[in-house]
Amino acid sequence: MSKYARVIVDLSLDRIFDYVIPDELKGLVQVGGQVNVPFNRSLRRGYVLALTDETDCPPDKLKPVEALAETHVMIPQSLVKLGEWIADYYCCSREQAVRALLPGAVRSGKIKHKTLKMYSIADNIKAEQYVLEHEGKKRYEKQLAILKLLLTHREVFKDKVLRDADCSDSPLKTLVKAELITEEERTVHRDPFENVSVIPDFPKEPTAEQAAALEKINAMIEDEKRNKHVMLLHGITGSGKTEVYLQAIEKALGAGKEAIVLVPEISLTPQTVRRFRARFGDRVSVLHSRLTEGERFDEWTKVSEGLVKIVIGARSALFAPFRHLGLVIVDEEHESSYKQGSHPRYHARDVAVMRGAMEKAVVILGSATPSFESYYNALTEKYEYAELKQRAEKCFLPRIDLVDMRMDADDDGKVGLFSKSLVQAVRDRLFRGEQVILFMNRLGFARQMMCDQCGYVANCPNCSVSYTYHRRRNTLSCHLCGSVMRAPEVCPECSSPEIKYSGSGTEKIESIAGELFKPARVVRMDSDTMRSASSYEDALDGFKRGETDILIGTQMIAKGLHFPNVTLVGVLNADQGLYMPDFRAGERTFQLLTQVAGRAGRGDVSGQVIIQTFNPHNETIEYAAAHDYKGFYDFDMMVREMLTYPPDGHLITLYFSGPVERDVRTCCESYMELLRPYCHNKVIISEPAPAPIERIEGKYRYLIIFRGHRLKQLREAIRHLLFHGERPKGVDVYADVDALSQM
Ligand code: ADP
Ligand code: ZN
Ligand code: ZN
Repeated sequence: MSKYARVIVDLSLDRIFDYVIPDELKGLVQVGGQVNVPFNRSLRRGYVLALTDETDCPPDKLKPVEALAETHVMIPQSLVKLGEWIADYYCCSREQAVRALLPGAVRSGKIKHKTLKMYSIADNIKAEQYVLEHEGKKRYEKQLAILKLLLTHREVFKDKVLRDADCSDSPLKTLVKAELITEEERTVHRDPFENVSVIPDFPKEPTAEQAAALEKINAMIEDEKRNKHVMLLHGITGSGKTEVYLQAIEKALGAGKEAIVLVPEISLTPQTVRRFRARFGDRVSVLHSRLTEGERFDEWTKVSEGLVKIVIGARSALFAPFRHLGLVIVDEEHESSYKQGSHPRYHARDVAVMRGAMEKAVVILGSATPSFESYYNALTEKYEYAELKQRAEKCFLPRIDLVDMRMDADDDGKVGLFSKSLVQAVRDRLFRGEQVILFMNRLGFARQMMCDQCGYVANCPNCSVSYTYHRRRNTLSCHLCGSVMRAPEVCPECSSPEIKYSGSGTEKIESIAGELFKPARVVRMDSDTMRSASSYEDALDGFKRGETDILIGTQMIAKGLHFPNVTLVGVLNADQGLYMPDFRAGERTFQLLTQVAGRAGRGDVSGQVIIQTFNPHNETIEYAAAHDYKGFYDFDMMVREMLTYPPDGHLITLYFSGPVERDVRTCCESYMELLRPYCHNKVIISEPAPAPIERIEGKYRYLIIFRGHRLKQLREAIRHLLFHGERPKGVDVYADVDALSQM
């Protein structure tokens, strides 16, 4: 039995404290467990990171562990180790890493199990008599409805009684008082998808390509001594990747293991969930951002108690507390939403690969357009690789036509938003009763307010970005700090009424499309119109049922949706995003165009994609139009290798911010000098400079970027500096390891 527990206290200190384990708690205090410990004369919640017989402190100075925490939350030991790796690799504190491992509801321990009132018949004979006696009497109508319901269903929860018998509380109370029915409190696991009914579904006979991929995966699952534990499943949209996931999961479950499926939050739709539910029923737990705290707590407990075998969810589902993990699937692994934007800034795909390695689980990364990182690892044979080049159901990849917008100018040289060929194509499709998706790429720049007379641009006063204009609400807002103001009628600088809104948004497309294609029914989906989960589902369901002819949207509609009747996809502004100051701009544009194109022609009629561009000879757009991933990769990699950009090497960005610019700059420069000794001669340094977005919420921002191979030493030095380095008051410093953007 160990003498001491190393405990991380729920505080923002990156420090571990040793506590004595008193005799009565010996064997009960375990790694991963929550304990209460004395800290500065108060009691604190802490997590046990390790047990030991050695301590660096004089043992008589150590305080004892007070008690186990009431919640009995236990983080599996393997996850505690993963947390430590996250803290080291992503240069965050151990406490921040622990936070990522546990949902807030579980950490706080404030949520308790939910109980519901449940009703059943107390005495069948008595109840039936009562029904016979009062049948047809208006006054007893509700009571009888309840009794009939309970006579046919053994036990019914209160909300279902109220709904099905269409009654209030009072007839229920009367019946309980008359001892005709009984009322009891039941602990329930809240089921966020209890209202979604599913038709069971069975494995499909794999296509030859699916079979080849599955053979490799099954071999990996069977052989724990495998030399590669990660597979990149590179399959075009509709090639049946999901079917491969489903069969791989079956294999893992058969081996007594558990599985995690990560999907980007945006594609965590009922459509996706239904496919997993249909195959695995209630062995699946779904974690999404719309869960209440209580539901989150329940799902975590179910996983922890081994009541479910499969977890499907966004980023944080990766930390499901399984103890026999056999398989992790990362769908759409190229998605940038897998990188967390706040501490700890981890990349769920990369952490998945690490968790797999630590727990001897197989990891499948799936994508139609793999991230360069994953493809690079497959080419260098770090990962297994399987490719699905054919669509699973008999249909073909859509034809992609590029429209050169420069040729589409009218007599005044003006270019509209819709080219003549797109307008014609949309009309043709609608005439045949088919559906159309119009896609607006809003990566990059939003709509600005600009004055035609004096060139004034409405900027946020706290941040160095321009305001975004929303026509429906007639407001200007800042997407960085959230400040909002009423859109002015005249220019605040020169009072000219000639204020214009540049950068056309979906809202404008919607109104133009409504005019152009009358009487087509048009629906717009973007973050402005889709404020709630139900509006999102309603819009999609309506489109699916054919109540909408044209769906207009942003990235939100680019993914995972499957509409057989969509035969045309129009991309209005392919170029937007290409010229962002970011070495991944091309990669993102390629991914997006491929994703969007994949929405066309998933039914019997072959599909068509029209891409409008001002740069028809841009390589990225040409490769996308030719469905040529490999060609694009080779082309773009040439540049990256020349400049040592990822995946050729890693990248760490160090950010500094604060209210006084001079302090921020000095701190940035002095840290650079402290870190220089840890940069070997192959590390490329972008010296201290103001960040592209120079100010956010009134704070000035500076950054340093390090690129290259073998950055471990540097990372350790950065981490040390972050937690122990000196800095002027008010200056914040943080690191973004493997940063996806440098803004
Ligand atoms: P992806 O995930 O690669 O986009 P899906 O798994 O969604 O592809 O498959 C596309 C369609 O093909 C789905 O409707 C799916 O049910 C069907 N499908 C997949 N595999 C098979 C198969 N082996 N036989 C018949 N249909 C299949
Ligand atoms: Zn003006
Ligand atoms: Zn702002």
